[in-house]
Amino acid sequence: MESYDVVVVGARSAGASTALLFARAGYRVLLVDRAQFPSDTLSTQHIHRPGLRLLKRWGLLERLAATGCPPVRRISYTLQDVRLDGPVPVEEGIDAVYAPRRYVLDSLLIDAAAEAGAEFLQGCTVTGVTTEGGRVTGVRCRIGRGTAEVRARLVVGADGMRSTLAGLVGATTEREDIPRTCVYYGYWEGLPAQFEVYERTGRLIGVVGTHDELTLVAAYFPQAEFQDVRRDADAAYVEAIRTTAPGLAERALSARRVERLRGTGRQLNFFRTVKGPGWVLVGDAGCHKDSITGTGISDAFEQAALLAESVGAGLHDDREPGAALERYATGHRRLMESRYRMALDTARLEVTEERLEFTRWIASDPASAGAFLSVAVSHVEAAELIPATG
Ligand SMILES: Cc1cc2nc3c(=O)[nH]c(=O)nc-3n(C[C@H](O)[C@H](O)[C@H](O)COP(=O)(O)OP(=O)(O)OC[C@H]3O[C@@H](n4cnc5c(N)ncnc54)[C@H](O)[C@@H]3O)c2cc1C
Repeated sequence: MESYDVVVVGARSAGASTALLFARAGYRVLLVDRAQFPSDTLSTQHIHRPGLRLLKRWGLLERLAATGCPPVRRISYTLQDVRLDGPVPVEEGIDAVYAPRRYVLDSLLIDAAAEAGAEFLQGCTVTGVTTEGGRVTGVRCRIGRGTAEVRARLVVGADGMRSTLAGLVGATTEREDIPRTCVYYGYWEGLPAQFEVYERTGRLIGVVGTHDELTLVAAYFPQAEFQDVRRDADAAYVEAIRTTAPGLAERALSARRVERLRGTGRQLNFFRTVKGPGWVLVGDAGCHKDSITGTGISDAFEQAALLAESVGAGLHDDREPGAALERYATGHRRLMESRYRMALDTARLEVTEERLEFTRWIASDPASAGAFLSVAVSHVEAAELIPATG
């Protein structure tokens, strides 16, 4: 039986980045995923500023740009008839927004983890955990027709919303809110775009350029309309663009949609307990929220960084793991509560008179408009931008 310091289950934004950071910290790491890579997944792919900042810190932002992921340097936000438009604010040398295809981003992260020394096993499905005295000590997995058991001081569940690990260790759901939206998205050829968001009551359209000179266009609808929308998703998608972003719809007349339309109504909102003896959850496994604010990738990176920092060099110290995981759980709550709240608020798809007036006022003042767009790319609550005093 092989023995590792850390086994990470799930090798996408949460898992591959966690494996990368633990491997760079000198730990012996095994990263496993049941999928074969390169592999796509159901997700649009705009990475918010905190995520880009971490990619840069990890030395991966330039590598991402070199894959042909276009830097998007202008942003517009249109709330009904009020429009804000400007350059993407420059911060820490980052002057663009990126929205890589997931089969590019996830493979890039896995390669970086492997370069840092993590072993990567694809086509490997975790089916069980081993325990000693109530503590998780490793995982059981299926690879092809065989099975294997692997020991680890820490088992990380980065296996997404339907986390097998969370089920195996009995992680409880601490908070749950009903789904608020459903979403359909597609890729367009010949539709040059900046980073654009259009919102009216009941609809939100997000637009951003991605690999292969394609433009991603996503349409959000209320969850209550899901059954109607899915009956003819193509028609509902086109109608949502036409009625929410008429200018975009006009530009799309000379463009062509490629690939199939993808969508989901499983916009679950929950927090799970993120740690226990010998195990911890990162990414969607620990907290899943409506994808409307598009912060999941960025949040996963931040959680990976938080976990690696919380554990530090203390994984072999028998008194430390519990305290380290407690630090992670506290930081996780602090980080995710505001992101969760923002996602659920946006997912109401409600444009109130008050919001409209406020946005109109911001649009009338270039300095305020710039600050607003800065908040939009960072996707933090305004309060997080105000430096703490004292
Ligand atoms: C429609 C939609 C649009 C989105 N748009 C954006 C966006 O624009 N920007 C953004 O930042 N985020 C977006 N997100 C959210 C984002 O995709 C996720 O939050 C983010 O990728 C975190 O993923 P993860 O790594 O935690 O889990 P996942 O991406 O779900 O990865 C989990 C991995 O675990 C593996 N796995 C599962 N079970 C097992 C097992 N038993 N054994 C081995 N492997 C296993 C799976 O194969 C998978 O590869 C969107 C999500 C959706 C659904």
